[in-house]
Order: sequence, then structure tokens, then C-alpha cells
Amino acid sequence: MSEHFDVIVIGAGPAGYHAAIRAAQLGLSVACIDDFIGKDGKPALGGTCLNVGCIPSKALLDSSKQFHNLTHAFEAHGISTKDAAIDVAKMVGRKDKIVKQFTGGVNMLFKANKIKPFAGKGRLLKDRQVEITAQDGSTQVLGGTNVVIATGSAPIELPFAKFDGKYIVDNAGALDFDATPKRLGVIGAGVIGLELGSVWNRLGSDVTVIEALPDFLAAADADVAKTALKELAKQGLKIELGAKLSKAEVKGKEVHLTYAGKDGEKQLVVDRLLVAVGRRAYTDGVLGDDTGVKLDERGRVLVDEHCWTGAEGVWAVGDCVRGPMLAHKGFEEGIMVAELIAGKPGHVNLDTIPWVIYTEPEVAWVGKTEKQLKDEGVPYKTGSFPFAAIGRAVAMNEPAGFVKMIAHAETDRILGVHLVGANVSELVAECVVAMEFKGSAEDMARIVHAHPTLSEAVHEAALAVDKRAIHKAN
Ligand code: NAD
Repeated sequence: MSEHFDVIVIGAGPAGYHAAIRAAQLGLSVACIDDFIGKDGKPALGGTCLNVGCIPSKALLDSSKQFHNLTHAFEAHGISTKDAAIDVAKMVGRKDKIVKQFTGGVNMLFKANKIKPFAGKGRLLKDRQVEITAQDGSTQVLGGTNVVIATGSAPIELPFAKFDGKYIVDNAGALDFDATPKRLGVIGAGVIGLELGSVWNRLGSDVTVIEALPDFLAAADADVAKTALKELAKQGLKIELGAKLSKAEVKGKEVHLTYAGKDGEKQLVVDRLLVAVGRRAYTDGVLGDDTGVKLDERGRVLVDEHCWTGAEGVWAVGDCVRGPMLAHKGFEEGIMVAELIAGKPGHVNLDTIPWVIYTEPEVAWVGKTEKQLKDEGVPYKTGSFPFAAIGRAVAMNEPAGFVKMIAHAETDRILGVHLVGANVSELVAECVVAMEFKGSAEDMARIVHAHPTLSEAVHEAALAVDKRAIHKAN
């Protein structure tokens, strides 16, 4: 007889481990299967986010920001430095230590919550049986009352620029360069391309980003995107828009690129190439026969608004289902599903998921853009406020950027907030709360914000919606 659990979670990334922990908190017996192998060759929990995504990239973004400030920003404060140098191996080692701390943390949480981890690749069979294939090829089968598929996503590979792990790399490879590449090519000016492009640019790499779309950050507010592009260009990132890669060939220790730009075909030679053209749901081999679970045309597990697959007791959460591929969206879906399994209500509002890009300045938003509202024919008004008029921002020498609030023209309800500037990854949180509580710009305008803080820009943007910002002419 196979071992039986109330809940079997396939995948211990952000969505999976949240589902597992919440289900265990609710008194259910839980198994969690994961096949990720860490840099030390041992199974590592936490999925892409903790191992090769959110956390390691933030570690390198912070290290490279410190170095960049040391070499570019400290002088303005009257601090002079000489012979600043970066030890890339030490920087990467620090990142690896942070990753280990957090993946080990998930292990500890599993122990504390009596969740049984299984190392190997999980495959859903019929009747909620789950087969696990270990690294050595051995298999075992578990039975579950419920199964949660949380297998995440994988980088999209371009057929003419295949990953080789050294010269042509994905996000994981670009977190582990052994030295700063003299010239780095980046395909895709999306979240990964801009964040990791920024890391190596700050450490001295000559970075060229090749983006197929004619618009920069097409999903963001157009004014935010314009400011971000200007600031990134000032830092030395070369961003070519409307440029499509057609060939990437490794010749010796170089990568030779051919791409069609605005002015015809171009060539570029780089030392390393990061391909970051998006991710795809990772559902390869996860479904056996007769599971009743369906995939859509993009390989994502089909689910309803409660992440139920339509097959009895089978759920799917995180990057392997529809919606934005963001760790925090996966967290909440994992929690929702665990609560639904335990007979409680559960809900995730996909309309108020915050987005953050950890460049300098940071970019963040929640809700609709002006373009979306125009397309939908929704009447709206906006209020913006620049960080250049915020005392704290100027004292920090971070005057770039602004906050733009969009409210319904008649009801004043906040429909979106778009931010670019220092620490806006934190400022977006209060905007999410306001939107979740169906707040109006007037509500935000009447809420006291501490002075002097960066959050005053959110307050002033709310005032500006009604043309009554205090520290600027309306
Ligand atoms: P992305 O979708 O953010 O950006 C990919 C970019 O590549 C797009 O702008 C696209 O137009 C461009 N592109 C596609 N094909 C191309 C081609 N052939 N030539 C040139 N450009 C091309 O994808 P990503 O940056 O790879 O990130 C993957 C996922 O990971 C995203 O869903 C993202 O949300 C998530 N992620 C989030 C964070 C964060 O929240 N801070 C950080 C990293 C990754």
C-alpha cells in the first residue's frame, strides 16, 4: 500500500511551499515533492525564487548597488574613495550563503510543521496517485486525498541561441559569472534582463539589451517607462528597442550576434549572452494518463478562479497556471488552495497584484495603466508628484522619478498607482492596501503620512488627483 497524505504538493517553490505550510497549519498531513538540486549537489527547497530567482538576484543587486554608489554616488556626499574594487567570487559567495540560509529555512519550516519532503520528480497519475522518480531513477508512489501541482516555470529557450551554461546563459547562469564580462549582451528588456543587466553594468560590464518590442516596458505606465529608460540609459545600459535577434554563435570565447534593428541588420560581439525572453509554465511530464487535468495551448494547467483543475481533489497554483509569474501571486494561491481544501473560504484578487522591477530607480505598480483604461473606455483622472520635490528623496540624493495615481473620474476610486523612484518597491504596498479596501484618492489624501519620508510622494499624488498638491503648482 502506498503511503497516503491529505495533501501532496508537487513543487516546493513559493506557491508549493506556501500551500504545504498552510495545509499543515490547518491540521492536514502533507507531503511535498521537489526535484531541485542546489549548487552543492543536494536537494534544495524553495524553487526558482529562493535558488535562482528573487533572492539571489536581490543579493547581487544589492552588492552591485553598493559598488556603484561607492564609485559614482558617494562623492556627492563629500566621501571620497580610491581604488575601489569588486571581488566577484566573494560577491557570488555571499549570494550563495543567503540562498542556503533561505532554502535551509524552508527545510526547518517543513520540519516544524511536520511536512514530509520527498526529493525527486513528481508525476500525477490517475486517482490522485503521485509517482516520484528520484535522481537515481528509483520510483515510489504516494496516494493523496488532494494534490496541488506547483511545478513553476522554466526559461524560454530561443532555437538560434541555445543555452550552453557558459557563454549563452539563462537567469541562473547570469547569477554565477566568475568575473564581470567585459561585454554582456542581453536578449529581452523584461524584468530579468533589466535586473541582471543592471547588476553587471554597475560592476563595469558594457551591457547591450536587445528588445524585440518597439516600446520599452510595454506593460508599465508609459510615463514610468520613459523615466526608467532615461535613468537606465544614464547609467550606461544600452537598450535597443524594436530589435530582433536572428543568430547567436559562440566563436572561441565570444558570442557573435546578428539582429535586425531599426536601421537594418546589425552585428554585435559580446563575451557573455543572457537570454531573458520570458518563461513558460513548467509542466513537462507532470501529468500521467487519465488524470482529468487539462493543459492550455501554452502548456499551463487549466484552473478556475480558485485554482481548481476540474478533476476531483486536484489543484494547481503559481507560475504553472494563468496570471502573472510572480512569487507573491503564487504564495497567495498556495494559501488559498490549502484553505479551500480545509473547508475554509479562500480568494486571491488578481487585479491588485503589485509588480516590482528592482532596477535603479525601482519601478512598481498596481492596478490599471492609463492605456488600459482608455482602451476599456473608463473615465479617469490622474495626479502625479515628483520625488525631486520630496525632501527625504533629495536628502538621499535620489530625486529621480515620481508617483502617479489614477482614480475614476466620477467615483474617485483608485484604479491604479504607478511609481518609479527610490524604494518604490515598499511604497507600492500602501497603494495595494488602499485598492483592496476600495479606497478613493480622497481617502489617501486624508491619511497622515510621516514627514520626511518617501511615502509623502504617494500622499501628494493623491492630493494632485484633485489638483491640490501642496508642494507643486497644480
Ligand atoms: P519578461 O516577460 O518580463 O520579458 C521578456 C522580454 O523579452 C519582453 O519584453 C519581450 O518582448 C522580449 N522578447 C521576447 N522574445 C524576444 C526576442 N526574440 N528578441 C528580443 N526580445 C524578445 O520575461 P523575463 O524577464 O524573462 O522574466 C520571466 C518572468 O519572471 C516574468 O514573468 C517576470 O514577471 C518574472 N520575474 C519577476 C521578477 C520581479 O518580480 N522582480 C524578477 C525576475 C523575473
